[in-house]
Parts: sequence; structure tokens; C-alpha cells
Amino acid sequence: EGGGDMAAGGAGDREAWCGPPPGGLALLGPAPGAPSCPHGPALLFVKTSQGKEQGRRFYACSACRDRKDCNFFQWEDEKVSETRLAAREEYNRNHQPFFTHRQNVERYKNFVLLPLSKRRFCQECQQLLLPAEWEKHSDHQFLCDISTAQLKSPSRLLYPLENKKTNAQYLFADRSCQFLLDLIIDLGFRRVLSVGTPRLHEIIQSKASQEEDFRVRSLLLDIDFRYSQFYAEDEFCHYNMFNHYFFGGEAACETCRKFLYQDNGERVIMVTDPPFGGLVEALASSFKKLMAMWKEAEGGGHNSQEMPTFWIFPYFFEPRILEFFPSFSMMDYQVDYDNHALYKHGKTGRRQSPVRIFTNLTPSTIVLPVEEGYRFCTICQRYVSSGNQHCETCNSCTSKDGRQWKHCVLCKKCVKPSWFHCNTCNCCALRNHACEKTDAGCFVCGKAGHKRSTCPSLSHA
Ligand code: SAH
Ligand code: ZN
Ligand code: ZN
Ligand code: ZN
Ligand code: ZN
Repeated sequence: EGGGDMAAGGAGDREAWCGPPPGGLALLGPAPGAPSCPHGPALLFVKTSQGKEQGRRFYACSACRDRKDCNFFQWEDEKVSETRLAAREEYNRNHQPFFTHRQNVERYKNFVLLPLSKRRFCQECQQLLLPAEWEKHSDHQFLCDISTAQLKSPSRLLYPLENKKTNAQYLFADRSCQFLLDLIIDLGFRRVLSVGTPRLHEIIQSKASQEEDFRVRSLLLDIDFRYSQFYAEDEFCHYNMFNHYFFGGEAACETCRKFLYQDNGERVIMVTDPPFGGLVEALASSFKKLMAMWKEAEGGGHNSQEMPTFWIFPYFFEPRILEFFPSFSMMDYQVDYDNHALYKHGKTGRRQSPVRIFTNLTPSTIVLPVEEGYRFCTICQRYVSSGNQHCETCNSCTSKDGRQWKHCVLCKKCVKPSWFHCNTCNCCALRNHACEKTDAGCFVCGKAGHKRSTCPSLSHA
């Protein structure tokens, strides 16, 4: 069971990757000729110290950060015997979902023909059951009388994956999902490439099937194969966004290409809400490949434009995202989630969500809801949150977290209201910060001087 790979690895190095933040782990990227695990080509990593590469490079699973989910490990320079390669291929084949997408589509067709009283969903297996299968699941919990409305809203039927460190599913609150859809429609888009946004996909699909004059279409790309039970092959592709891997092979890739190519690639937008695990460079590399796919439509036309994109991610990743996509800018809109204790509206007023929309569309066209306090800054030419004051010195609305920031003349920039200028560190920080520097850069912001747990960009009221 891939145990050979593990044995060669040695627990120490694996611990660094699976365990707490890889303080000094650098992603070297999707490497040509990389070995594969059940989640597609593995990614190449190296240990770092003080920004320098240290030690042997190794491959690890692109999608799972928890070894319980995938324990793939291989040194870059490791010799893998033919027998082990064959065993690995066999292992990868055996670790694909039990039903294929096509089989699931057939099952769905049969399922909807059943009377309500015979429509069951196994909560343990997260699977729609056909009557012949009830027996096998007899000691499992199941839901009965699955309505058409429930089938149209799988993100409410399936439980959100929560156990995984990086695969946790945070579903949009209705407020945010509706806002995104309205925005997409107002901007004139007709097709949405939904990358890891099952809930957005589902409201689009649901409206398309119910409202005759609703013209928007969506294709969902997601690693959560449970969704293949509810969507046809031209509505969902089993996809890994950390290595741009289509589990369905060339046919699935072709589905995506066709979707992007319709109407010469016009009026299509990519919307993505990846897990916040930190592999920004892996995500960026995949998104660039999807963008390149779009560009091929119309033989590279589009006046050298980039595929319109909304990348939904926490504000403290702004520098990282801009590093890969200089054309992007961050919007002030706070994206809210249903099942995230921190990132949703509390009963008493608003909890501040750190999640924002990064986009390559012209900021002034992204109209934010005035009834939620957003206003238009005529100097910045974009909508900003109510607490975001225009700083005369910086000549921009500088708040990232929604609170009013203050200008520090020594740092020559605006900082969080809770920060003070520290003469020892020669920069602004929390009053009770530890002045001594640590070697490795922070996992979140990449800066030296602190670890992720004390990253100033993570501290919000
Ligand atoms: N807010 C979104 C869900 C975001 S949660 C919504 O409500 O629609 C992150 C999503 O990314 C989940 O759907 C999860 O299944 C998916 N995901 C996680 N890892 C992935 C990977 N490696 N490749 C593709 N999708 C992934
Ligand atoms: Zn079951
Ligand atoms: Zn300022
Ligand atoms: Zn300062
Ligand atoms: Zn930091």
C-alpha cells in the first residue's frame, strides 16, 4: 500500500509536510515526469532554511496534506523498481472511486424515476441508493423521500468535508452566493467555470432548470467526486486544482475545453474558492493553465486579454496572489460562509470575514452592496468597505480587514489600528509582540520574524 515509499521517506520529513505549517518547505512546482499518486502527478518539494534549499527534494501528494488521506512520498533521486512501479499503478487504479462518473449518471437517471418513497440517500456512504442496494446499507443511517429540490441542492445533502487539513469545505452563505451570481450576471457573463465552488454551481444549475429566461451556464471542476452523482459529464469534471489534473482523462479535459470555447470564449468567467492551505504557487500554475486553455479558443484572440477571473481567498494572501497575477486587485467585499464559525454573520452584527475577491476585471465595475455599507471611492475608483478611510499620504483606501487603519510616518504606510511602531524591530507590530527574530519565513506572509501562529496578518478583531 505505498508503504515502500513511506519507508524510504522516513517519518521526520513526512512529519514536516503533514504536520503543522511547513515552516521551511518550498514547493518547487509541478515537475515534468513526476510520479503519480491516486490524485494525479505529485508535487516536488524541498526543505528550506533561511530561504536556502536544504536537503533532498521529494515528491508528495498535491491534494492531501494529511498522510491519512494519501501517504504518497518519494525522494526525487530515489530509484523505483519496475515491480514497485507496477504495484503503484495498480494501487492508483484501485483507489479510484467505486462507480465511474458515467455509471453515476446512469444511476441518477434511474433514481429520479423512482417514486419519492423509494428515494434514499445513505448518509454514511454519501450515496444515492437504488432499491436493490438498500440491503447492503441496512445498518447505515439514511435519508428518505429525497425530493427533486434536494437533488438540485447537493451541497446541502452532502455533509461538508471537514476533517482534512486542506480539504475542508466552506460553503458560501446565501448572501454571498447570491451576491456573486448577481454580480456575474450584471457584468454580462453567460458561462461560469466553477473551480471548487459547488454551491455557486448549484444555484446556477438550479435556476437554469427552473427559469426559462435564465441564460447562465456553469461547469463545476472539483476534487469532491460525490458531486458526480448529481451532474452529467458536461456539468461536472473530477479535477485537482493543485496539479491541473483531470481524473477523467482527455475526455474530461475536452469537456472543459469545449465549455471554454463556446461563443469563441466570450462572456466566460472563472470563479474559484480554493482551500486556504497555502500552496498558492500550485494553484496559480493550474489557473494559468485553465486561462491558457481559454486563450486557445478563437486562436489566441481576445486582444491579449486574460480570462476574467474571481479568485476568492483571504486578504493576507494578497502579496502572494499579486506575485503570480499582477493584473489582479483585491476587492473589499467580505465573503461569508455557512459552516465557518469565524467567517459568518453573527447574530449580533457582523463578524469580519478575512475572505475577499481577487479579480483581473476593472475594479470600478465590481459594484458592492451599498446597503451593507460599501461605498465608492472616487479617487481609488473602486468600492470600499465603510470603515476603509482614504489615506491622504498613501493616496489610497488602505484598510485590508475592513477596520480603519492608521498611517505610520516611520513605516511610511498604513497599518492595523492595533499596531504600534516598535523601535527595536523598526516596524509596526502588535504591542505585545516578541522582538527577537526567528530564522524561517512565516508560512502565511513569507516574512521573517514570526511563525504562522503569530503572523500579524492573521490577527483580526
Ligand atoms: N465556497 C465554495 C466552496 C469552497 S470550499 C462554495 O460554497 O461553493 C473548497 C472547495 O474546493 C470544495 O468544494 C472542495 O471539494 C474543493 N477542493 C478541495 N481541494 C481541491 C483540489 N485539490 N482540487 C479541486 N477542488 C478541490
Ligand atoms: Zn451505506
Ligand atoms: Zn497611509
Ligand atoms: Zn510603524
Ligand atoms: Zn506572517
